[in-house]
Amino acid sequence: MFLTITTTGTPERPATDLGYLLHKHPEKSQAFSTSYGKAHVLYPEADAERCAAALLLEVDAVALVRRGKGKGRGGAPDAALAQYVNDRPYAASSLLAVALSAVFSSAMRGVCNARPERAAQPLPLRIEVPALPARGGPELVRRLFEPLGWAVTAEPVPLDVRFPEWGDSRYVRLVLESEALTLAEALRHLYVLLPVLDDAKHYWVSSDEVDKLLRAGEGWLPDHPEQKLITSRYLSRRWSLTREAMERLELVRLAEADDSEVEDIDNAVEAESEVEEKPTPLAVQRRDAIIAALKASGAARVLDLGCGQGQLVQALLKDPAFTEIVGVDVSMRALTIAGRRLKLDRMGERQASRVKLFQGSLAYTDNRLKGYDAAVLSEVIEHLDLPRLPALEYAVFGSARPRTVLVTTPNVEYNVRWESLPAGHVRHGDHRFEWTRDEFRAWATAVAERHGYGVQFVPVGPDDPEVGPPTQMAIFEMNTADMNTGTQNNLNDEKKEAKAA
Ligand code: SAH
Repeated sequence: MFLTITTTGTPERPATDLGYLLHKHPEKSQAFSTSYGKAHVLYPEADAERCAAALLLEVDAVALVRRGKGKGRGGAPDAALAQYVNDRPYAASSLLAVALSAVFSSAMRGVCNARPERAAQPLPLRIEVPALPARGGPELVRRLFEPLGWAVTAEPVPLDVRFPEWGDSRYVRLVLESEALTLAEALRHLYVLLPVLDDAKHYWVSSDEVDKLLRAGEGWLPDHPEQKLITSRYLSRRWSLTREAMERLELVRLAEADDSEVEDIDNAVEAESEVEEKPTPLAVQRRDAIIAALKASGAARVLDLGCGQGQLVQALLKDPAFTEIVGVDVSMRALTIAGRRLKLDRMGERQASRVKLFQGSLAYTDNRLKGYDAAVLSEVIEHLDLPRLPALEYAVFGSARPRTVLVTTPNVEYNVRWESLPAGHVRHGDHRFEWTRDEFRAWATAVAERHGYGVQFVPVGPDDPEVGPPTQMAIFEMNTADMNTGTQNNLNDEKKEAKAA
């Protein structure tokens, strides 16, 4: 029974940091006793570029049956010999989930004293479970993991490779990939969803299971479209517990909805307080500068790339000059919050037809991004590792090719003016870099040259004579001579893709 967690890294952020995050040293192989057998943690790979941790569980089938005596599913006594001859030792299942929480309990809570900033950041993750019992098959596996921001590969494992006509077993080979989740989030997804897929809990379900479920589900379960199935299966279909859990989840949802309303009012108050000479928050100044630049460019159909929780989309919707607004983000969680902020479900048809939110990664070309007037990348580029930036550059300027592109990013020179910011620190834990004005100019100018755009720079926020403004914005406009080649590029892309398909 085993599972591997793999991450990739760069010289500045070595992949071996995974060892710190898991609280398990990559150079040691370690064993832990659990009530059902021995759990081993080992690292098949560990260097700066790639690091893989494996959790292997050796199940003691006899101990399992002894412990479970008289406590089978639904409380039925377990007398059958079948109990001894089962598939438990070979399959990943709820036992693996129990082992995960025992061996990686701090990691699951997001605690990491050695690398606190890393624990709070999303990282590239690949999780593989070679044999996962999955009642409901690959289809259900996707319905459970995809809404959480995972790219899912779930292949049915044949019952017997020698006899394909026997059909598939109830196992799938599962591979999950994401760049938008923290390790703690990933572990909490597995902790809940592995037993849900197994659908055969090995221990008696009591009401503290509801607490465990809500704790592990914090931040994702209240918004999950399959929340009911997850809750009911996790609690072994005990309806009284399921109802309790569903009621508590509803309370969480309501509390969160209230919070976002409060935040909206705060923003409105802040925006209006300009007249009283209270400083306008930088986020509002940035939004205003972006909207002014979009209007100056005459754009009507706009992409907000890395839209986060949808504040800009919301502001653009208020202006009828923008006929179509598309928010794209790699984080499903951000998109869920954006949807709630925009009240998409309660929007009239007319409004609703102007706005779209979808999940996508800017590190890949995407045909859905073609044909728009303008694209905004507001405080997004600094969230990508530098080596990924050329991929984003190609996806936006080479493939999507809107006429206008706005890019904002922090000006690192200004950081000395921030009283609350310790010297040498970036502004946000997930910033992979922050640039000086010169560095940003050099990058933007080269991008413009490579793709047939002109570029101008605009300060956002107070432009300090020494260190410049807190935010820097580049406005790219496609050269008129390149407009046709742009279309040509798009056509070529389509031909290439059609061929590949
Ligand atoms: N544009 C918003 C949010 C900025 S935070 C604003 O100005 O307030 C950066 C956002 O970029 C996050 O929501 C993050 O999920 C998203 N992001 C990071 N890497 C991404 C990628 N490769 N593809 C798409 N979105 C990404």
